Amino acid sequence: MASVKSITPTFALKVLTPSIFAVGSIAILLLYIVNGIFEETNRLDTIHSERLTTSAVGSLRDSLETIVHDNSIWDDAAQKAGTTPIDMQWVDETWGYSSEIGVYDTVFIVDAKGNTLYAATNGSREKIDAADYIGDDLMLLLERNAVTENSRGLTSGIVRTGGVLSSVAMARIRWTEANNGAQSTDNTLIIAKRWDAKVLSALARRYAMEELRFIPLDQQAGNGAVTILSPSGEAIGKLTWKSRSPGNIVRAKYGYVVSMIVVMFLFMIAVLLYMSWKGFKEANDSQADAISASLRDDLTGLANRREMLAALTRHLAVARAEGSTLSVIYADLDGFKEVNDSYGHEIGDLLLKAAAAGFAYIAKDAQMVARLGGDEFAIIITGQGSAGRARAVAASMISFLAEPMIFDGRIASVSVSAGIVDLDDDEADVEEIIRRADVAMYKAKSEGRNCVYVYQKSLDFKRDENRTIALQLREHIQRRNLSVVYQPIVDARTRKTKGVEALVRWPKDASTRYTPDVFIPVAEEFGLIEDLGYFVLSEACQQAAQWDGIFVAVNVSPIQFMNPNFGELVHQTLVKTGLDARRLEIEVTEGFIIDNAARATTIINRLHDMHVRVALDDFGTGFSSIGHLRRFKFDKLKLDRSMVIDILRQPSALRLVQGTIAMADALGLTVVAEGIEDENQVSVLRLAGCSQFQGYLFSRPVEAQQITAFLNDGQPAALSA
Ligand code: C2E
Ligand code: MG
Ligand code: MG
Repeated sequence: MASVKSITPTFALKVLTPSIFAVGSIAILLLYIVNGIFEETNRLDTIHSERLTTSAVGSLRDSLETIVHDNSIWDDAAQKAGTTPIDMQWVDETWGYSSEIGVYDTVFIVDAKGNTLYAATNGSREKIDAADYIGDDLMLLLERNAVTENSRGLTSGIVRTGGVLSSVAMARIRWTEANNGAQSTDNTLIIAKRWDAKVLSALARRYAMEELRFIPLDQQAGNGAVTILSPSGEAIGKLTWKSRSPGNIVRAKYGYVVSMIVVMFLFMIAVLLYMSWKGFKEANDSQADAISASLRDDLTGLANRREMLAALTRHLAVARAEGSTLSVIYADLDGFKEVNDSYGHEIGDLLLKAAAAGFAYIAKDAQMVARLGGDEFAIIITGQGSAGRARAVAASMISFLAEPMIFDGRIASVSVSAGIVDLDDDEADVEEIIRRADVAMYKAKSEGRNCVYVYQKSLDFKRDENRTIALQLREHIQRRNLSVVYQPIVDARTRKTKGVEALVRWPKDASTRYTPDVFIPVAEEFGLIEDLGYFVLSEACQQAAQWDGIFVAVNVSPIQFMNPNFGELVHQTLVKTGLDARRLEIEVTEGFIIDNAARATTIINRLHDMHVRVALDDFGTGFSSIGHLRRFKFDKLKLDRSMVIDILRQPSALRLVQGTIAMADALGLTVVAEGIEDENQVSVLRLAGCSQFQGYLFSRPVEAQQITAFLNDGQPAALSA
């Protein structure tokens, strides 16, 4: 399963990051644009307010200019105030008193040099000096006035008077066109209007502005301000107003709508992202499921062959790169096929699961436990001391399966053959590692199963050789080229031949000859044993049918014996060759029979039903147990040559043989001693109760004709093959 953890980085990389980036950019852009609109609205309003302020200032100037223009070009004024001395009363009545009205609040009459001839403010004459009121700009304005003589003849400007701004306008008092042809007098009429709060608020009202006010130059205006210059161009103050900031108003009014839209937009994106994350996760999960399913063995839940190969490739690369160690165990269950055949697949599956679970537990520290298919398993062990750990794991696997398992009340007993391969410093790749593990495993199989072999190069030679033997053997079987020789088995007392054991031989004319000890295991390993066994059985039965009065003993390999069809095969052979079933003995070895007790019992019973006897061969090697004799109802016990040799050397061996014979006797079994080579053995074993003998002392295995010959002659002994 791909965890949420593992897909999160991919999702973050492929979807989340670009989405957040895109959404973030859009949101920022949106806010930027909206904010820009608000700001622009404010900016336009400021510009507009500036223009209005400028207009307001202009309108004040215009009205003053209009008044000064109308009052300065006037014959009465030229007469009364144009020349010194001026008619003060007339001036009072004409201009002085009206300085109260509001359009202007101050009036001066000055001569060409700027001397104040008359001054009134707010309706009454005052002792103020125009030069003080207007400052240096007075002379400037008077000079400009002189320059503009020929036009309207007036000038205006804004001056600072006692911290307050005033608009001033002035014009030379002149005769009209009709009188004296618009000639100027010496004096100039000046009117002024202070920008007091009243004036400013009236202007503000008129121009729909708020809080129009004058501030000093150094004071920071909030939004916009218009700088006021004196006639000489000096900045003398600022006019400012309270900005309406329509952008801010809109922002205040609609800002939350924009925020809502942004929030909804983000929410929608979040939903979309969540949905796509889910989709992404599902797709990822199903992909991960598919991958892990294709890497898992359904039955046992272990890794399968594919996964194992991939893991081995990885670990091998790491081990090679780091110079660390690695071991692989290849294990194959012994006798699994028999459990499957006799108890059915369900029990077989249960057994595999149990074995898998056991192996997984035993090898819990291993890098991988895999089922390669059938009853084959592989374990990968890496890191410090991997070789030692692999051997320990394999040994535990063997002891784990030593106890039979009970499924559904049935006892299933299997063992395991294991091959171990340790990483060498040669260049072996994955394929080669597996081949070596396989070779070692086969070695364990051919060495009697239920054991562990560690791969060595010499095994390869052996295996190559075995392959060559198998190739030749197959051909010899097909051509019926093998021969069968017979070794007499004689009565212990009379030394008369009671029967013969059929022993297969490699063809005499072959360039290399192999003994059965070599080629029988090869036949078992390469799947040739059933054909070979059938060849010997039919050959021996056919031959024995020609003889009179003696039995023939045929060796049967465990693989043949466990074949459910074996009983039927024997029956057909007897029918075909016409041999009396009572004259046939089947020799089997013990080890395998114990592992497959139920199956063995069935087959032995079937043979007994046909009156075929069953002999337990090679008793005294490995597994021997008297209990088995009773349990499996053998007819005969063949003491192995190694036991026969031991009795003359070890008193304990003799006592063991004596006990065994006594017990066999009690169970009604015939006891045969194999490999008798001297008379001492004969005497000891006869005393111990052995009833038949077989060995070079009596006869080597010989050709069938020789048996025929001595049967006819009645010669019982000392033939040589
Ligand atoms: P086995 O069944 O125990 O056969 C007896 C073996 O002991 C034979 O070896 C025989 O030649 C040898 N032998 C008999 N008397 C003496 C003696 O006094 N001294 C010595 N040193 N050896 C003696 P052989 O023929 O080489 O067969 C070896 C094994 O190969 C047999 O052991 C049997 O297990 C197997 N074998 C032989 N023929 C067949 C066969 O047709 N089918 C099967 N499945 N196995 C066979
Ligand atoms: Mg035998
Ligand atoms: Mg034997």
